[in-house]
Amino acid sequence: DPRLKAISEAIRVVPHFPKPGIMFQDITTLLLDPKAFKDTVDIFVDRYRDMGISVVAGVEARGFLFGPSIALAIGAKFVPLRKPRKLPGEVISESYVLEYGKDCLEMHVGAVQPGERALVIDDLVATGGTLSAAIRLLERAGAHVVECACVVGLREVKGQPGLNGKPLYILVEPR
Ligand code: IMP
Repeated sequence: DPRLKAISEAIRVVPHFPKPGIMFQDITTLLLDPKAFKDTVDIFVDRYRDMGISVVAGVEARGFLFGPSIALAIGAKFVPLRKPRKLPGEVISESYVLEYGKDCLEMHVGAVQPGERALVIDDLVATGGTLSAAIRLLERAGAHVVECACVVGLREVKGQPGLNGKPLYILVEPR
């Protein structure tokens, strides 16, 4: 797809953020480029339009930047998967392991009905730990996770067992 090169080039790489040695993939510069931003959303929309998806679940915070546009375009609901103690209603929680320590994602009870077909979206996948927590939340609510989608990711993550065998769709590799 000829659009992917410009999408990749619109993502800024910030060395040593948030700590030494990390090459941070900064998608805020992609959002500054309306053509590349629209192409990114369009590629996802074209892929998911006819897959019977009724739920787009976005991972806080950068999954919120892409998920709602995709959801509106394919006629699905958008469900935010949030960090702890942000959602006001009754929630279910799934914790996941980070390089140092643990974190947790929460989802409102009742946001997703059993049998719904879900897409999980985030900006970037590294180990897959965050996406796997998102998958567990949706499956606990009885949803079927059709696929996970990220703008940036390492191709190797695809085969990893962490995603519970769910397919992973990635637009570009980290630079
Ligand atoms: P994982 O759980 O190891 O796959 O890490 C993915 C999570 O960390 C996602 O929610 C990303 O938003 C975040 N993340 C890790 N590295 C980067 C980066 O370089 N740019 C943007 N987000 C990142």
